[in-house]
Amino acid sequence: MEKYKDIGLKLTPQRLAILGYLEDNKEHPSAEDIYRAVSKKFPTMSFATVYNTLETLRKKRSILQLTIDPAKKRFDPNTEPHHHLICVKCKMIADIHRDYKLPIPNKERAGFEIIGNQIEFYGICPRCKTTKSKGVLEEPLAL
Ligand code: ZN
Ligand code: MN
Repeated sequence: MEKYKDIGLKLTPQRLAILGYLEDNKEHPSAEDIYRAVSKKFPTMSFATVYNTLETLRKKRSILQLTIDPAKKRFDPNTEPHHHLICVKCKMIADIHRDYKLPIPNKERAGFEIIGNQIEFYGICPRCKTTKSKGVLEEPLAL
């Protein structure tokens, strides 16, 4: 919770519950996921409170907003540079903590000095792979 001290938000019990849910969360939840979880404890909380809190955290760079899931924005409290894997079936997102040195030929750089990258991998997670082998009907790929 330390890192959220200086975000300039009044830390109401509802916002603290949102921050608590996000802390060390490795699930890359959507705003809806966060709302569903936190409103169990605070049934009167509005979705706007979740949304606005996430927006403030994002602007202060206290959380990352991921675009890897085309269906909805996903949030990551881990702001260290890292990469992601997404399951194209269940949309589970996993982290990859590893540096990828990707040499880009000079003529492909558009004059840019490259300072970093964030790579998205698409695949089928172990659980969905198991489900497939049991013959359960699959949803069509969203990608
Ligand atoms: Zn999956
Ligand atoms: Mn992550």
